[in-house]
Order: sequence, then structure tokens, then C-alpha cells
Amino acid sequence: MTARSRSRRADTSPPVQLTFLGGLGEIGRNMATIEIDGRIAVVDVGVLFPDAEHLGVDLILPDWSWLDARSDDVECIFLTHGHLDHIGALPYLIRTLDRSLPVYGTQLTIAFCKAVLEEWPQLPTPDYRQIEPGDVVDQGPFNAEAVQVSHSIPDGVAYAFRTPHGMIVHTGDFKLDQSPIDGRPTDLAHFARLGDEGIDLLLADSTGADVPGHVPPERTVGDQIRKHVMDAEGLIVVASFASHVHRIQQVLDAAVAVGRRPVFVGRSMVRNMAIAEELGYLDFDASIAVEPKDVERYDRRELIVVSTGSQGEPFSALSLMGAGEHRMLDVGEGDLVILASSLIPGNEQAVFRSINNLSRRGCKVIHKGVSPVHVSGHASRDDLILFHNILEPEYVIPVHGEHRHMRAHADIALMTGCLEEHVLICEDGNSIYLEDGHVTRGPSVPTSHVYIDGLLDDVGPALLRDRRRIGEDGICVCIVTVDTHARERAGDTIVTQKGVVFEDNADDILEAARKAVDRELDGLAAAKYEDLQAVQRHVVQALGRYWKSQTGRRPFILPVVQDV
Ligand SMILES: [Zn+2]
Ligand SMILES: [Zn+2]
Repeated sequence: MTARSRSRRADTSPPVQLTFLGGLGEIGRNMATIEIDGRIAVVDVGVLFPDAEHLGVDLILPDWSWLDARSDDVECIFLTHGHLDHIGALPYLIRTLDRSLPVYGTQLTIAFCKAVLEEWPQLPTPDYRQIEPGDVVDQGPFNAEAVQVSHSIPDGVAYAFRTPHGMIVHTGDFKLDQSPIDGRPTDLAHFARLGDEGIDLLLADSTGADVPGHVPPERTVGDQIRKHVMDAEGLIVVASFASHVHRIQQVLDAAVAVGRRPVFVGRSMVRNMAIAEELGYLDFDASIAVEPKDVERYDRRELIVVSTGSQGEPFSALSLMGAGEHRMLDVGEGDLVILASSLIPGNEQAVFRSINNLSRRGCKVIHKGVSPVHVSGHASRDDLILFHNILEPEYVIPVHGEHRHMRAHADIALMTGCLEEHVLICEDGNSIYLEDGHVTRGPSVPTSHVYIDGLLDDVGPALLRDRRRIGEDGICVCIVTVDTHARERAGDTIVTQKGVVFEDNADDILEAARKAVDRELDGLAAAKYEDLQAVQRHVVQALGRYWKSQTGRRPFILPVVQDV
């Protein structure tokens, strides 16, 4: 295939600027902005879930600090689908902008946003604008056409933005499933029409780019689940993502086929399935569902538990069942557990711990490693090759993926005919200009990870370092009172610890530590007592030396030096 070129009329308006705030170089916190004539549209506003290294962090957000100063210029938000890595940061962005603004999305996406925002009653309510595939939105200088895509959550869309300088297509997350459960495939004919019109810049999901072959249809998972369910003789538990409506639909179909009643457990599962059922995305007779508190009234062989916890999350329903600590459900010999889910990198240990616990209790555990009970929600290599050949974009920027995924995706773009200088690998914080059909790199914006713990977003690298040190080495607190006027120690020194040495053995060690501090302070020149910070430094030095020499440990030392 030869490189494509097309003529276009010259436009004198300023170039269109695209800025990537998250999701490029990582799986999660997807967010980009498009700026036209000084107005800004946001595409997706997702969160990233923390790893074990992010001690105490609940969520990680994109860094949109540069938007703060321009918050009046933000015109609207376009959402591709209802996964939290695309909508989960919406309340935080609204808190930053502190006003209502138009939020475009499909019915289910908006319903999931509303569920997220329910926990933030004090925030301005977004001006939700429900769209359907094929709709064309005109909002300020933005013209966006929604294109139907299939994914691991229903109701996903891509957007085609027609700008004064060319067409940008942003796929969001997608796969090419052509026989999806809801009969709503990725609309390749629609993409082909856009391709004929001329796609100047394609931003496409890279998550599956290094996986060979095509993603099998979601239906194949249903066949597998039904087979396992047919053979089961005890209680059945199926764990999956709480947003994977089609996966759950197939579990429910299998349940009905063998005459079992579903029991939904896990907060997000119960909430999402209620939303999906109410809006008609889940097709089943809700009256057959059994409440967890009523399971005692049924024979185990009459039930199928649909649960959260497929990623080994420690307090999820499945983990609690594995640990024998679930309040209403116990599993054991003869029961079947199916993890109908992916294994997100980083969660391996937790998932295998959960599988081992369930196995130890006597459950038979089926997961994607032993049976094809999961298919990906993201187009794989051969799917992407086909997709690029249909769209024939002039420029390509791989999005949504770690660097290796974006790299593999860039190779696909080259292979399908893009010029080498027309394939750009960008990362979080990068921006590009689109001018008269040509893409060039723009300036970068700040790109740190914003860590949310509780209500605050003040967690930075320094705080994480402190938490890591306290977590690994324990903490020793020393309280010293001095009289800065009299230039002397006043009152007894107190030394206490947590997590450094075993509590029962601590008394003698702490007494010796206290003496080491007093010795150090008694040796100071009187003038030093006027300077509280100098006293602090000496406390830290004395305690550091003491712990190291007596125990070989290096606790986090917190000196509290007060003036009388
Ligand atoms: Zn995603
Ligand atoms: Zn997704």
C-alpha cells in the first residue's frame, strides 16, 4: 500500500491542539484534551488503580493542573464508555472546575457516571447529554460524531471530531467482536465511511496490540461457562468484573438453563446489575434473584453466586469466601468457582492467593489459565491490522497502553501503510498540533501522578517514601522538652516505638534509647538549646546511632522537641 495524501483547503484558524493527560504509558487514567479556537473539550476522565507500592493510596488521577488556570475555557466532556479508567475521575474534575458543564455519553455510560457522582452530593450536577451511535454533536467549536464500538462493557462509542484542520478519530477502548451478545458490533461500515471521507489522525486503543491473532467472540465464553455449570454439583460461584454486563448475562443464561437462581454479591456487582437490568442491558427475570441473606433457605445446588473479587481484591466477596470469612456464604468441598475474568498485570499474586485459598477449602477453581472462560475486551494484533486497513488514517498516535503496547501498535500502523514520520509515540503530558492535515509535536504539560487518599490529593513521592519507611522499618517517636531561655533540658525525655521491635521486649530497649538521647543532649553547649531544630537533629542522630548499634535496625525517627 502506498502512502496516502489528500488535498485540503487552507484554513487560517489556529492549529488544533491535542494534549494527552493519561493512559499513554500505562493502562488507566485515560484522559485527553482537544483545543480548538481557545476552547477545550475533554475526552474521558479516568482513574488508575494503585499498586502495592502506593501505600494507602485509593486512586491515582491524571494531572490536570494546567487546566486549573483555564477552567473557564473547558467547553464539555466526551465519554467513550463507562469503565472507571475512563469515567472514574469525573467527580474530581468537576470539583476542580467547580461548575456544571455538558457531559456527552451513551445511556449506560451516563448511568454509571450518575452512580459514581451519587457519592458526591455537594458537587455541581453535570449537564448530561445522552447520545447514540451516529449522533453528531455540535458544541462550541466541536463537532463530534459517535461511532458504535464493542468492548467489555456495553454501549461504548468512538468519536470522530471534524475540526477546521482535519478529522481526528478517537476510538476509546474497543474490540472487533462482530457477533456480540447485544447485536451491537463495532461498526466497521461506519468507520469505513469516515475512512473514505479522510481520517487525518487516528488515536486508537493499544492494549491488545502485542497479543497475536484475533479476539474470539464473547459468545465463546458463554459456551464454556454453560459447560462447567452443567457439570457442577455443589454451589457455583462465578467472579467477574462488575461492569461486564454481557459476561454476567451469559452466566445468568447458563443459570436459567440449569434451573439455578442467581445471588449477586459485592457492592459494585449489585449496583451495576441493578442499573443494567433497569435500563434493559441485562435480560433476565429479576424476581428469580436471591438476596445473599436468604441463601440459607435454598439448597446449594439451586444457586449460582455472581460475585466481585476476580482480581483477588482483599476485601471482595470472593476473597472473603476463600478465607472462610464471608458473613453469608461459605464454600467448600464439591463447590465450583469460575473466575470469568482477565488477570490484570500486577494482580497475579493476589489472584493466585485467592485461588489457593478456595482450592484449600475443597473448591474446584476454573480460571482462564485452565479453560477459555475469558476473552479480552481489546482488539488484538490481527484485529488492529484489519481496523487500520479499513480506516486508512494519515497519522496515527497509539493510545491506551503501556509503552510496549503503543510500540507494537505503531508497528501495525507502519505495516498497514502509514509513513514512518506519520506515526508518533506520545506519552502522558505530551501534546501535538494538527494544522492543515499535518501533525507536529507541541509543548508538554505537567504530568505527575495525583494520588488520592481519602478526601485529599496531597500524597506525593515524599509522603509515599515516608509511608514506605514507616511500613518497612517501624517508627520511633521521641519527645524532648527544653527551656530555650534557661538553655537546658526541662522534663523527662519520652521514647516510644511502633513496629520496630516486638512490643513485649521493648521496655529495656526504649529505656536505653532514652538514656542515649539524654546523654547526647547533656553533652550539648548551652547555646544549642536556643535552637529547637538543632536539638531535633541531635535527637535524630543519637537515636539513629542507638538503634543501628543495638538492634541493626533503622526505624523512621520522629523527634518532637517542644519549648516549655
Ligand atoms: Zn480502558
Ligand atoms: Zn474499557
